[in-house]
Amino acid sequence: MEINIDQRSGFCFGVINAIKVAEEQLQQHGNLYCLGDIVHNNKEVERLKEMGLEVISHQEFEQLKNARVLIRAHGEPPSTYELARQNNIGIIDASCPVVLKLQNKVRTGYEEVNREQGQVVIFGKEGHAEVNGLIGQTGNDAIVVGNNFENLDTIDFSKPIVLYSQTTQNKEDYENLIALIKQKIKEQNCNPQNNFKAHKTICGQVSNRGPHLASFSQNHDVVIFVSGKKSSNGKYLYGICRDNNPRTHFISEAEELQAQWFEDCSKVGVCGATSTPMWLMEEVAEKIKQFRL
Ligand code: SF4
Repeated sequence: MEINIDQRSGFCFGVINAIKVAEEQLQQHGNLYCLGDIVHNNKEVERLKEMGLEVISHQEFEQLKNARVLIRAHGEPPSTYELARQNNIGIIDASCPVVLKLQNKVRTGYEEVNREQGQVVIFGKEGHAEVNGLIGQTGNDAIVVGNNFENLDTIDFSKPIVLYSQTTQNKEDYENLIALIKQKIKEQNCNPQNNFKAHKTICGQVSNRGPHLASFSQNHDVVIFVSGKKSSNGKYLYGICRDNNPRTHFISEAEELQAQWFEDCSKVGVCGATSTPMWLMEEVAEKIKQFRL
């Protein structure tokens, strides 16, 4: 049986960088606090915990003083940096440069649109760390519209609108939202060309993976998709694999594999989310080999 690991699956460069920064700090100091999970993958979080990384919540961060805290790739709102300054916290900033650039865009976009009594709209998951970092640039004034277009009705379509997307959102859903907003603006007898601007802010590291995984899934008899259960990117990419190959199985660790999945199968593809470590996909491939099918 042939087993192939998708070489384009696994961590994006933002996460690779954050983990590298954490490892360097841990080698130097032996311990480090991280504000929230460094990546939505329990296995990788456990590995780093064993090296001395301690994941803390935002509530715990508020109580902390005189310590060093890592900011993960998702980024943080300005209030986190302010609190760190007040409490003598040394920030080790591993925010992804793409996210930082988006934060800047949202901040300047908000300043501009605010002068015209307009609104900033973020297409993303309410409560997600990256989204919190983005709305923080607007003093939490931005409207967050989720995947089911929640909160859409809170937008005033007769006023200027500037739209941004969380970097890991689905491209098609974003395009549908853009079309819907244009239609709503027209219903107000306004011209979308004058008072609506949608910025293309989905990260290429994620948006290119969907079409690639669709053909990867079609080219294998069985697909094993490896991801943490909390990863929204994992759920999205798994859906693409399953739509293209019904013999796709979602697992979080090698122990979840079942021998009967590989009956009458000559080609297995192992792939995963942007938060899945390569070492975990390799572990899964090794375990499949042991079934000796
Ligand atoms: S998905 Fe893109 S923007 Fe988000 S952390 Fe990875 S590289 Fe950065």
